Amino acid sequence: MSLPKDPKTMTDAEWREHLSLEQYRILREAGTEPPHRNAYVHHKETGMYVCAGCGEALFDSTTKYDSGSGWPAFWDAVDPNKIEQHTDTSHGMVRVEVTCASCGGHLGHVFPDGPAPTGSRYCINSAALGFKPAPE
Ligand code: FE
Repeated sequence: MSLPKDPKTMTDAEWREHLSLEQYRILREAGTEPPHRNAYVHHKETGMYVCAGCGEALFDSTTKYDSGSGWPAFWDAVDPNKIEQHTDTSHGMVRVEVTCASCGGHLGHVFPDGPAPTGSRYCINSAALGFKPAPE
């Protein structure tokens, strides 16, 4: 997955061309996919989850766990500098939105009810992710 230019300078029209409708709705419009019926909720392979927008490595499979929420959950990001957190007051809730630091794409939210060692639960839309299997 490669982008024609620096993701920070991509226009809306270029994102529409680059992404599927579902990826666009989630990454660029902060949408949410249905719980349970999504690609990676029960995915257990070893490897790296990358941003579906720009390809940046975001979450390692070793931090993935089953949160029971119906979406993929991770207890840490691969590098804190690769994601950004923003206060989100939409839908009558106060949540912390997580976006990709490289392309600004909406990924999901982070909650303080995850497992050790971080206590964080990154609840991420499958459609915001791609997966690169680890080499055999
Ligand atoms: Fe990205």
